[in-house]
This record gives sequence, structure tokens and C-alpha cells, in this order.
Amino acid sequence: MIKYINYGGADGVTGACHMLNTEFGNILLDCGLFQGRDRKIYSNLEMYFDPREVDAVVLSHAHIDHCGRIPILYEMGYRGKVYGTEATKLLSEIVLEESSKIFEEFSGESYKLFNLENVQMFLDNYVKVDYGKTTKILDNVFIELFDAGHLLGSASILVKIKDKSVFYSGDIGKLNTPILKDPEKITGADYAIIESTYGSLEKHESNEFFDEFKNIIINTLKRGGKCIIPSSTVGKMQEILYLINDIFEENDLKYKVYIDSPMSSKVVDIYEKCKYLYDEDAQEKLNNGDNPLDFTNLNYIITKEESIEIQENEEPYVVLSAGGMCEGGRVIYHLRKQIDNPKNSIILVGNQVHGTLGCRLSKGSKEIKIFKDKFKVKAEIYNFPSLSGHGDRNTIVDYVCSMNKKPKKIFLVHGDRKNQMDLRENLNFKNVEYTKFLKRYELK
Ligand SMILES: [Zn+2]
Repeated sequence: MIKYINYGGADGVTGACHMLNTEFGNILLDCGLFQGRDRKIYSNLEMYFDPREVDAVVLSHAHIDHCGRIPILYEMGYRGKVYGTEATKLLSEIVLEESSKIFEEFSGESYKLFNLENVQMFLDNYVKVDYGKTTKILDNVFIELFDAGHLLGSASILVKIKDKSVFYSGDIGKLNTPILKDPEKITGADYAIIESTYGSLEKHESNEFFDEFKNIIINTLKRGGKCIIPSSTVGKMQEILYLINDIFEENDLKYKVYIDSPMSSKVVDIYEKCKYLYDEDAQEKLNNGDNPLDFTNLNYIITKEESIEIQENEEPYVVLSAGGMCEGGRVIYHLRKQIDNPKNSIILVGNQVHGTLGCRLSKGSKEIKIFKDKFKVKAEIYNFPSLSGHGDRNTIVDYVCSMNKKPKKIFLVHGDRKNQMDLRENLNFKNVEYTKFLKRYELK
């Protein structure tokens, strides 16, 4: 009999970690870092299981809340393989290296969860798996990966254990995300573990947001202000860049655009290498000789010195800077410098997790604290939660309902209770479980 146990990301959107105990071995699906409020409830250091008893790890995608505890597994004695796509390996390397540096820079030794050596062990043990190819990971255990449309290389995972199957959605992408294909539908499974981030949001606003986003950027630049866009370096930054490229080309804008993140040029190289994963629109641009991630006024800022130089610069510009929820990364320094100037705009994108500075700003805080200093918030603050990598409720419902083989039970994860309740109500399935942390579920 298979047992399913959740070790993170059951009732929150960070720390994703799911274990399948089987007679053929123990399989871990993702092992992500707890962040924001979740970090105060759950420990990143206590794994809640013995990593030496895990036989294989399958990774859905390269976001830190899905891959961030894998190096800790190696630190704690895990010596097995990690399975995932090529793009996930390349992007995880960047994400994990960047995190280990942020730990050192912002949190000191006390919060140093893993080091570059642990990251190297993860890379050495990584096995690349293509979408749609059934791959043996243990005796009698096979996996198949499907494009989840959430991040370059992101996958939903079907685990086949002898005559049973368990499906894990990972993070399900939003339809029409720049560069990415839409989430690939699957035929079904005996059991399904499904994400519920936007279970309460029936539908993302689609076109209106782009016009508003465009107008904010143009108006801010024309009044001599700066647009500061905090963004995670991997995925989100490239999607926003794609939109900004469109805005600048359409309106023939001559202002400078900076990408201020030490890792960003490496990420673009990975996108270049994995362009076979691009959606049709992005492929078409490439075929016409227009790289959607490059344009005349774009500048990559790699060193700290260059970053300080542009912060001092009086000219209007757009800067995309690392640190999507304003909890760390270079964007902190841009905020310190620019947040008290009413000419500037801070444009938040995607889901701002509770307990983060990004969340406080999105809720209208008039004064914020960065390190030990207080700052008045005079810049205009905008929030675009729909510029998110996650599908809305309609997308998830459609995704689940399109399975020919209906699961005997659906486990909802990766969302708070309100989102899970709203999703459950709309799923039209009898057997839907609000997954509980550490509870053992028998999959017969
Ligand atoms: Zn994700």
C-alpha cells in the first residue's frame, strides 16, 4: 500500500514537500523552502523525516519554495538522485546559488541553511528527464513529466507505482503567460495532489492589466520618475521583460531599462539554451530575428558598484531588480533610495506572501522599515497580483475536470484554507481532502 505524507506546503504556498512511501522505496516530490509567515510556523532546518530514508527525489520546478530544501537533504545524508527537466536543473542551480549568497549577506551564519558544496551534490546527482518520456526511477516505479506552463522547464509529475498512479500538479501555470506554453492536460491518475494558490480567484483579469501596467510605466517615466519592479530573477523577470520590450517597441521609448541582479544574465543564457520550450508567439519572434528578451535600451547590471551607480543616477528609468517580495536581494537598496520620492513608482508583481515587506507595501503601509531604518512611503505603489505564474480557479478546475481517468481522491495543497474551500466547492468532486501537515494518508 502507498502512503502519502505531506512535509510542507499543505496549507501555505511555500515549503512544498510530499512523500510517497511505497513497498519499492520512498519517493519525495519537491523539497522547497518555507518563506514569509510559513517560516515562522515550520522549520527549514528540521526536516520532519530522515533524509537518509528517501530513495528518489522528483523536482517539479526551480522556484525556491519547491527546490530550496534539496541541498539540506544532501547536508543531512541523502545520497540519491533528483529527477527533473533540463531547464529545471539549470535554473535551480542559479536559484540555489543565489540563495546561499543571500543567506550569507543578509542573515549571517545563524540562518545559513546550506552551502555551495551541498548545491554541487544536488547538481552531480541530477538526472534530466524530458516531458512525455516514461522514466524508471526505482524498481516498479516510473515517472512521466508534463509541461506545467508555470516556469521554463516546470513539470507536473505522474508517478506510476506498479498498478497504481499518483499525480502531483506542482504549480499550475496561468494561461497565456509570455514565453511559456499553456499547462499540458493529463489523462488522469488514481490519486491527485493539486495546488490551490488561486482557488478563490475565479478568473485573472487578462487584458486590462496590461494597459494599466503600460500606462504606469509611461506616465512615471514622462514625469521624470523611476519605475522599480521587484521581481524574482528566475521566470518572472523574463516574463516582465518580454512585456516591457513590447511597451518600449510599440511606443518607441528611449529610456533606459536596467536588469539589476547578479544572476540575471546567466538566466537569459539558460532561456537561450532552452528556447525549444518557448511558446508559439515567442518562437515566431525568434524566427523573425527579434529576440523577445533583448532590446536596444536594455542593460544588465552585474556588480554591486554598477548597481550603486544607477541608484545615484538622476535620470528616469525602469529597473527590474532581484527580490520579488522585497525580503532580500538588490531591490532593497533601490527601495531605500527611491521610496520617499513621489515621482517614482514601485510596481509589485505576483503573489505577495503574508509577512513580507512586499505584502505590507501592497496593503498601503505609509512607513516601512528596511534593516534598522524607517522610510516614509511617498512613491506610488502598484500591485499586479495577476502577473502571477499561477493559474486562476477556472484554469485549475478545467485542468482537473479534463482528466479522463477521475482520481479516487484529490488532495488540495499549496494554498490557504479559504482558497482550498473555494476550489473544492467548484471542483464537483466527492472526495476532496484538505491535506494536513504530517498526516499519513493511505492510498489503496
Ligand atoms: Zn512556483
